[in-house]
Amino acid sequence: MSKESRKFQVPDALANVYDFANSLDLRHFTHCGVQHQQAEELADPSALGDWMHQHGLIDRGAVPSQRTFAAALQLRGAIRDYLKSDPAERHRKAAATAPLNKAMEPFALRVAAIGKDGFGLMPMQADAQAGLSAIVAELYNAAATGTLGRLKMCAAGECQRVFFDRSKPGTRRWCQSTLCGNREKTRTYRERHKHDTGSET
Ligand SMILES: [Zn+2]
Repeated sequence: MSKESRKFQVPDALANVYDFANSLDLRHFTHCGVQHQQAEELADPSALGDWMHQHGLIDRGAVPSQRTFAAALQLRGAIRDYLKSDPAERHRKAAATAPLNKAMEPFALRVAAIGKDGFGLMPMQADAQAGLSAIVAELYNAAATGTLGRLKMCAAGECQRVFFDRSKPGTRRWCQSTLCGNREKTRTYRERHKHDTGSET
């Protein structure tokens, strides 16, 4: 769990998926005159190891292999693409599910009886593979409990931040309506107005 996931009240059960998807920050909009700087938290295997350690997914100092690193980036990209689709459409979109299924393949899970919680999914492998499998297990559990549909990608092209929709109807399209929502609405209004008056840019 990160400061960011706490700030936006992302449920603990989804916090690792949320942080993992947002370890690539593509935001480049300008807010209050300052352009947001894009960032990549998983620049190389040791950065991935650090990130995983911060999330309790691997021992301190452990560095994933190059192969696991490549598989992790593949997994993150597929999760982001999946979350980009409308929650009601996701399961029907082979373009989102096929790459995700392929990306989850290296991270095998098994069912285990675990304490008072009953049964749960446990990673089959060890080390970094296990930590990334735990993220896949989070995805599965969130889908089973229905909360995954509230994890979405901001509809603003210059944002693409993954957010957890806490609104009652669960129909939010922007990570923050006061930020991305307003920007988009202003732009749409301007474009429509421009069209109405027939003026050119
Ligand atoms: Zn946004």
